[in-house]
Amino acid sequence: MRRPDFLTALTAAALAGMSPRAVAAAVPNGTRRILWLRRQGYGDEVQAPFCIDGKSVYEPGYREICWLMRDRNVPSAQGYVRIDIVEVEALWEVQQSLLLHGILAPLVITSGFRTLQTNEALENAARNSMHLYAKAADMYVPGVSMRDLFDACWYRAASGGMGYYSDHVHLDSGTRRWWVGDLAIPTFSVTASDG
Ligand SMILES: [Zn+2]
Repeated sequence: MRRPDFLTALTAAALAGMSPRAVAAAVPNGTRRILWLRRQGYGDEVQAPFCIDGKSVYEPGYREICWLMRDRNVPSAQGYVRIDIVEVEALWEVQQSLLLHGILAPLVITSGFRTLQTNEALENAARNSMHLYAKAADMYVPGVSMRDLFDACWYRAASGGMGYYSDHVHLDSGTRRWWVGDLAIPTFSVTASDG
């Protein structure tokens, strides 16, 4: 016999009046997707369900995630945008694969959405960065090496762009590609000797 769907018993109307935290506690594990994020430098944290039925976006939780990932250098009217849901799912998948390795820790976001103004003020940011399109996150996880975090991104099912840096890993929802960000590449000086 089919197990009755929990969500048909717990109606959407009932869930609508509950805080994201309460919904996270009420909805069973199999159908909910909860992302645990912390923002570097600010310390605010969310454990927000962005999906509770396995298929559609749960707005209150999703908005908490977007709020945490906003551009903090500008007023929230410009800095708070909708983060690409594919990116949110990608972050969730990475967190899930870390969980499989017994790592229960938030993804610490060092950079989420960036306005043009913020991106241009950064020294090494790409001019056409995926952060501008709300499709990227820079992050680290306490107690996890950048290499292990990069590998967790690499081995998840639907990979986007991945950048490896000494203090963070970049993950975006663009096409699959990867790079090593701040490797010190030796410079070669070419001496003309053949006159
Ligand atoms: Zn980045």
